[in-house]
Amino acid sequence: MKDYFDLVIIGGGILGTSISYFLSFLNKSKKIGVIEQENNVAHHTSGRNTGKVHAPYLYNPEKKKLFANAAFHGYEMWKEYSKQQNVSFKEDGVIEVALDEKGIKVLEKYLKWGKQNGLQEKDIELIEKAELKKIEPEIKCEAALYAHRDGSTDYSTLTNAIMRDSKKNGINFLFNNKTNEIKKNKDKWEITINGNHKIYADFLINAAGGQAIDIAHNIGIAKNLTDVHFRGEYWKTPKKYHNLTKTSVYSVPEFPEYPFLDPHWIVRVDGSCEIGPNAVPVFSPYGYNTTENIKQFIPKILEMINSGARKIIFDKDFQELAFSEIQSSMSKSVMVERVKKFLPKINSKEITEKGTAGIRSSVIDENGKFVPDVILVEEDTSFHILNYNSPGATGALPFSVHVINQLHQKGLFENDDINLQCGPWKFNEIVEKLEK
Ligand SMILES: Cc1cc2nc3c(=O)[nH]c(=O)nc-3n(C[C@H](O)[C@H](O)[C@H](O)COP(=O)(O)OP(=O)(O)OC[C@H]3O[C@@H](n4cnc5c(N)ncnc54)[C@H](O)[C@@H]3O)c2cc1C
Repeated sequence: MKDYFDLVIIGGGILGTSISYFLSFLNKSKKIGVIEQENNVAHHTSGRNTGKVHAPYLYNPEKKKLFANAAFHGYEMWKEYSKQQNVSFKEDGVIEVALDEKGIKVLEKYLKWGKQNGLQEKDIELIEKAELKKIEPEIKCEAALYAHRDGSTDYSTLTNAIMRDSKKNGINFLFNNKTNEIKKNKDKWEITINGNHKIYADFLINAAGGQAIDIAHNIGIAKNLTDVHFRGEYWKTPKKYHNLTKTSVYSVPEFPEYPFLDPHWIVRVDGSCEIGPNAVPVFSPYGYNTTENIKQFIPKILEMINSGARKIIFDKDFQELAFSEIQSSMSKSVMVERVKKFLPKINSKEITEKGTAGIRSSVIDENGKFVPDVILVEEDTSFHILNYNSPGATGALPFSVHVINQLHQKGLFENDDINLQCGPWKFNEIVEKLEK
């Protein structure tokens, strides 16, 4: 049967593509497809992010252990893969600044978390104000955390390289195919694509990013969860600012209980510099413009009111935060001001070009609380990856190994040897590192 697959992955972002990459080595005899609604991989968040390969110091080792571990190992893996594929990868580090005493306490906590998450003495250090002035004279702060084992890359180029390798190993990429309805027909998944075409699969992996929750709901699971979308906007800075700092600069987040940071000063892998991202509430995972947001406004509001998210809508702190993020979307100078606090030389009048916005979809539980970690929902014949947010691009390769190993343990690839070479890595060795 032409449209029958042993396994389909919904979503050709960095996660779905990385999962297909490892499966392409481990399951050569199986027919595997990646269903993607756009005409290429990394069209959405995976190709619209900050491009940092994050050192895992921001993640509480108790609450975000898996993400922190995946980010830690993702650094070495992307470095190796970029070298093999001739993709730019800069080991340029990152500086996190504190602007007051309270912030310094947070940096001390981050230093501890970073070390608990695997960083060594040489990878991360707390630097006093005077010391930092010698390294980065333009930065104004009270203290800084310098993470040396942090890098910059272009995740869109990397996802494309991963896709090419997967294709060479026999994975089918089905572009311009949007899944609509998914249901069980006898013992197979019947997936309706583009409104009328049907394909069938024994097993389904949901890696649909901003639509992962909708797909889970479509097949009747994770009904207690919903999501809220935030658009992260960027401003490109003129060439005269490109040597202002040697490295990217983040600041201690003002609202750590929410799943996004304050806008940063970003030095991209090509040397250009940007300011961003903010986090403006929008009504769709593709709400880049007003037309899409108007179209999705009523359905999304109704969905939120009928779920735990209604508590967020009426939460005063969240309303204040949303208002300030909307302000930083409407006014360029409000956004620039947030970075000017630690980089006073920037003048918003000289910044005129917008960068490429990306949207994060954060999951909210039935109590109206943002879920801090990724959510994995395992069913007999399906596996769902929900709330896969930052540092999702950094951790995509090891995280994919984790997902496949879970499927292997439940017997999905019973007869397959997983002690195999997958590109530059031995699958089992990555599993062992992740389990340490
Ligand atoms: C502003 C911003 C900055 C970030 N910066 C960083 C960073 O510097 N470093 C880092 O590590 N992480 C960063 N992240 C996080 C990172 O980009 C994401 O975690 C990661 O890209 C998620 O990948 P994904 O494959 O799960 O999702 P996506 O890239 O969104 O891919 C999902 C894919 O599924 C497809 N799809 C969805 N529904 C359907 C359907 N019904 N049918 C067919 N196809 C479908 C979509 O078209 C999409 O291509 C950032 C995120 C944002 C928003």
